Parts: sequence; structure tokens; C-alpha cells
Amino acid sequence: MRDYISLQQKYEFDVFPKRDVVLVKGKGAKLWDDKGNEYIDCAAGIGVASIGHANEKLVEAIKAQAEKLITCPGIFYNDTKSLFLEKLISVTPSNLTKAYLANSGTEAVEAAIKFARFTTKKKNFIAAMRGFHGRTYGALSATFKKEYREDFEPLVPGFTFVPYNNFEKLSEAADENTAGIILEPVQGEGGINVGDKDYFRAVRKLCDEKNIILILDEIQTGFCRTGKMFACEHFNIQPDILTVAKAIAGGMPLGAAVCSDKIQIPVGKHGTTFGGNPLVCAAGIAAIDFMLENNLAEQAEAKGKYFREKIYGYELSKVREIRNLGLMIGIELKEKVQPLLIELMKQGVIALPAGATVLRMLPPLVIDYKDLDKVVEKLFEILK
Ligand SMILES: *Cc1c(COP(=O)(O)O)cnc(C)c1O
Repeated sequence: MRDYISLQQKYEFDVFPKRDVVLVKGKGAKLWDDKGNEYIDCAAGIGVASIGHANEKLVEAIKAQAEKLITCPGIFYNDTKSLFLEKLISVTPSNLTKAYLANSGTEAVEAAIKFARFTTKKKNFIAAMRGFHGRTYGALSATFKKEYREDFEPLVPGFTFVPYNNFEKLSEAADENTAGIILEPVQGEGGINVGDKDYFRAVRKLCDEKNIILILDEIQTGFCRTGKMFACEHFNIQPDILTVAKAIAGGMPLGAAVCSDKIQIPVGKHGTTFGGNPLVCAAGIAAIDFMLENNLAEQAEAKGKYFREKIYGYELSKVREIRNLGLMIGIELKEKVQPLLIELMKQGVIALPAGATVLRMLPPLVIDYKDLDKVVEKLFEILK
């Protein structure tokens, strides 16, 4: 057998801190490495594989579309793309009527930023401290973390940061030059910080009063993760632009900026080669159908509650706080998370960090209760 780790180390221009494991196979909420070790996956490709790895419906849809047509330029209509768009609009908030399709989350955010500037003819944006929106220049400019930003300046001008869940500070920052406010309903990378309902309702009102485009970034929270199809449903509000990606197509690269009638962008002002190609759209249809047919939102809600109740039954001395909305779970520790993640992986559970001290879990929403029990047991072993 080839030594894949050294092979990849030799040729990859690597940008990720690595764990010394070669993952080769997945099924449902399970992963296997090249030595045959089995893991319970509480990362799901960073919140991507919500419908489970090697989901049969998804695999079938991809195979069938691959045999038919993989690429189609944006200057033509396409059967699969039109059907996917209809499906997407049917599950996103009711005020959203049209979607621009891209290849990733960061591209969806780029589009949202451009659309907001074009629509309002204003320049500035307000984003939240500890918020994360992507790594390309526009999205990075809306991202708070200093380590991601420094060394790459100058970024896009016009971005201001205010504390999350603090309406007073936000309304002080908003003025006649504010084009958009961009927020995550639950901050993912920033440590699983759950948005406050009254805060988000007040933000919606402020945006209406001041002609500000409200961009909700549901790239991580969207598609049933938090116990609703979209997390903004917890707050009973609707955005002007919803950015989505990650779980949207079961792991195929697809992102979208889903827009209300308010948003304008003329033909010829934006574009993409791969974005929303027939292959990813076929995957998107299969993924969303699976979510609806299997009530994944309800499952996420119930499993999140089950996990919470279960873990509160244990005395965990290394834990400061546990935060969750559905199956978006953050365990804030009194110490650095990285060594504990490695320990947890040796015990057969793969999880993620969210910052230096938060252990983040985004398992496939199809994870079964037996595996959830096992995860709690293993967490107890390393956190007691
Ligand atoms: C992951 C993520 C992004 C970036 O998505 P990519 O597909 O990695 O570009 C943007 N916003 C949020 C909230 C995310 O979780």
C-alpha cells in the first residue's frame, strides 16, 4: 500500500493543520481510514454530509446526471437546474424568490456583498465580532478573526465589526451609508454562539427602517442542522439575502445567494463557470428531497435535545459550558481543545474545533441514537 500521508505531504500546497489519518470510506455517520479503523463522524466534512455519507439517493442522482450532462454554460437553460431552483425556492423563506448559484459558501457571500452594494447604491457593511463568512476577499473582509485577515491586507474597505447579540452597538454603527448587515444565526467557526431571538428581530426592523440589506449567512446553520430547515425560522424573521452552501447538495460543491424581490443585479454584472452545473443541481435535488422525506429538521431537533439531556447527566470537569441549537453543538472547555480532539479520535470519534477552546460537533443528521450514546460516553472519558 502506498504511504498516502507522505505522498500528499510531498505534493499538496497545504493550508490545513492535519491529523495523521487517511480517510477512505464513509457510510451514514461512519468513516473508515485506510487501516480499516472505524470512526463515528461528528464533523460531517464540516457540516456538509447532513444526509450521511454515501447516501444511496444522492449516489443514484449523481450517477444518472453524470451519464446525461455534467456541464452546461450559463447562457443556456437546463432541465435539472430549473428543477433544482424550484426546489430551493420552495424550502427557503417565503419572501425569497430567486437564487444565484455558485460553487461554495465564500462565493455565495461574495455575490451577496456585490448584490447589496448594487441594489442600495451604498458601500458599507456591518458584520459581527467572531463571525465567519469565508476566505476570499469580500467574505474575508466580513470575517472577524485577525489571524485570517492579517498578512492579506488591504481587504475590501467599508466593513465594521460590532459585538454579536448586542443591538445597541449594532444600531449605533448603522447609518445612511450602510448597504448591508451580515450575520450568522448561530456563529459556527466563532465558537457556536447562538443568536438571540429578540436581537435578530430588532435587526430585521432596523434594516427595514434604514433600507439596509439583511444578509443571513446560513452556510453552516442551513438545511435542517439547527432543527429547522433554516435557523432564521427560530427567530420568525426573513432575510433579504440568504447565503447557503455546505449541506445543500450532500457534499457536492454548490452554494447559493437566495434573494428577495428587493435585490437587483443586471445581466452581465456577475457570473461563474461551474456554479450550479447540472451535476451539482441533481445532487441538490436529491439532498433536499431526502431532508424533506426523512424530516431531518425534526430529527436534528430531537437528537440535539437527546444529546443535551444525556451529556448533562455526566460530571464533566473540563467543561465550562455546552451550547447547541439542534445538532450544531459547541462544548466550551477550560483548556485547549486540540489535544482532546486527537484523544477523542483515538477513541473513535471525529469532531472539530471552533476556535481554541470550543469542541464543535456537526454530526450527520442521520446519526442514530446508539452512536450518539457512544459519542457521549467517549466525551465523558476525555472530559471528566
Ligand atoms: C463554511 C462557511 C463559509 C465558507 O464556505 P466555503 O464553502 O468554505 O467557502 C461561510 N460562512 C459560514 C457561516 C460558514 O460556516
